[in-house]
This record gives sequence, C-alpha cells and structure tokens, in this order.
Amino acid sequence: SQDRVFNFAAGPATLPERVLLKAQSELYNWRGSGMSVMEMSHRGKDFLSIINKAESDLRSLLGIPDDYAVLFLQGGATTQFAAIPLNLCTPDDSIDFVVTGSWGDKAFKEAKKFCKPNLIWSGKSDNYTNIPAFDDLDQTSNARYLHICANETIHGVEFKTFPTPRNGLLAADMSSNFCSKPVNVTKFGVIYAGAQKNVGPSGVTIVIIRKDLIGNAQEKTPVMLDYKIHSDNNSLYNTPPCYGIYICGLVFEDLLEQGGLEEVERKNKHKANLLYNAIDESKGFYRCPVEKSVRSLMNVPFTLEKSELEAEFVKEAAKEKMLQLKGHRSVGGMRASIYNAMPLAGVEKLVAFMKDFQARHA
Ligand code: PMP
Repeated sequence: SQDRVFNFAAGPATLPERVLLKAQSELYNWRGSGMSVMEMSHRGKDFLSIINKAESDLRSLLGIPDDYAVLFLQGGATTQFAAIPLNLCTPDDSIDFVVTGSWGDKAFKEAKKFCKPNLIWSGKSDNYTNIPAFDDLDQTSNARYLHICANETIHGVEFKTFPTPRNGLLAADMSSNFCSKPVNVTKFGVIYAGAQKNVGPSGVTIVIIRKDLIGNAQEKTPVMLDYKIHSDNNSLYNTPPCYGIYICGLVFEDLLEQGGLEEVERKNKHKANLLYNAIDESKGFYRCPVEKSVRSLMNVPFTLEKSELEAEFVKEAAKEKMLQLKGHRSVGGMRASIYNAMPLAGVEKLVAFMKDFQARHA
C-alpha cells in the first residue's frame, strides 16, 4: 500500500502484507475468543489449535516426515549453535564444519565449548565468496555430524546442493533461506532457523530434528536447550513465544495458498535473476563478489566500483522508499535482502533505480 516502504533488511525483515493485515484484523479479538493471541493461555484450546496448525502446515510445506520432530523454541539461531552439540555429542565427539561465511564461523566457535569441532574447509581467505567441491572435503572419519550454514546472510553464499556427510548426519543453519524453496528434509539430521527472515518475527526459532537423535543430551544441558524436554512437551514445556508462533502460522498458511515452496522458489529465482542481471550487465559499475553458481536467492551483496558513491546510493534509495540497503558493517557495500515476502515490484523498483543511478553517475 501507499504508506509501506520496500524493506530490504536482512532480518527482522519484511513480512507479507496479507499476513500483517490478517493479524491486524485478528489482533484485538482472535476469532471471537474475546482476546488477542498475546493474552491467551499457552495451554488453552485456542492456542493449542494455533500451534498445532502451524506445525502441520509447516510439515505440509516442507514435506517433513513423521520421524522428524518440529520444535518451536526461543533464543534465536545463536542458541542452537550450542544446543546442537550439547544434544548430539559427548564432550569427546568430533564434528566437522564447512564454513562459508561468518554465521558458520560463529557456530564453529560456539561448538568448541561442548565438543571437538574441526574446521575442514573455510572460505575466509577468499572473503567468503564460494563453496567447496564436496568430493575434495577431508571429512573426519568419526565426526558425529557435518555442519553447514545453508545460506550465509552477510556474504550471500548459498548451498544449491548439499554435501553427504561421511557418517550420515548433516546439520544445517537455514535461518536465512528457510521455506524459500523445497528441501529434502530426509537428507538432514537437524535443520534450524530463526524465524525473522522468511517466516515471522524474531523470538521464534524452529528446529526440525530426526526423532532418534533426541534424548542423548549431555548431562549439563540446561532444560531450555534439551530437545527431549521440548519434544516430549510439544514445545510447551514453558511459555513459548505464542504471538510469534501465531504469525509464523499465518505465514505458512500464506505460503501454502501461494502454491507451496516450488512456486515460492520460482518467484524467488525470478526476483534474484532480475537483480543479479542488473549487477552483471552494469559493465562493472556494480559488482557482486560471490561466485555465480552459489549466489544466494535471498541476500544479494554488491559494491559500487566508485565506492565513494555508496553512501549516496543508500541515501537516494531511501528517499524513494527503498530502505536498509547498506551492507553489513563487516563487509561494507550494499546488500539487498529479497526474502519470500519482498514483492516483485520491490525488486523491479530497485533495478530501475540502479539503472538510473548508474546513468547519472557513470
Ligand atoms: N544464522 C544465520 C544464517 C543468520 O542470518 C543469523 C541472524 N542474522 C543467525 C544465525 C543468528 O540468528 P539469531 O539472531 O536469531 O540468533
């Protein structure tokens, strides 16, 4: 609508207008219950219907089989950097990390507190612009799992296919491309994602984990990090982030109504192609450093050949209601996050602006 901007933020990020309007219409009195979702008991039948529907819609969207648990947790993806090793490893277990950006690096560093992680590949020396050939990976023979960050939000590097771990378990941080495309869940031992990019507000973290991996947490594991506690209690061991789960549920409904994740991926590819083509066809005025085959459909980092114009670019874009285009402070330049909820019109407007900016400043 007229008063909404195009918000290119990396997260919290733009949400579908339809979802916001529906939440608005239900905010004061949820479906005749006489109260908002924020005020409901998390153990009452109304909220139970909300969380159960959210789970079953997510299961439909991603095709999550019955032998996987779906958990709605708190603490952000950052908490999972600790929870996964605590739940899956003994302190002496090895795990492997392929690090393709700063989020994977953070997960690696946190895991050091709980087991014995090995950094078997890092893209750091290339400023995180690529992904290794899987055949060349020197995996540790007894590693409990192999961890990847499926989409590096800051560097814009996305796995298009997944490595096969030597012993069968793959763990993936999907925070910034969760529900952006179909994924074969059965390839993973555990998938986790903070909600605040593609599926809802911050405060909800979704964990999808194969059920046989639950129940072996290290003894010192805090209850709030123990998957068995949350799984046995259907994510209601303590008070969950009720309102956030409700919004995630509305987003899942919306994605199903759009035709599911194949359709969502088709739209995402179209948007990303428009933007990458504009960059690649700018004769070097704009540049994206990421190797073409692994460029993210969600986070598009780019720089200006005349870097002194970057602040001006961000400022002029903001004047035209395109916000949050400044790159992450660690890499500079620009970054356009174009999650599921970014309308095609937003990307078209950005591309038109980029062409106009170039014509004025080339
Ligand atoms: N992993 C990835 C890929 C992320 O993008 C982020 C947040 N930007 C995190 C982990 C950390 O998530 P949170 O802030 O929810 O802890």
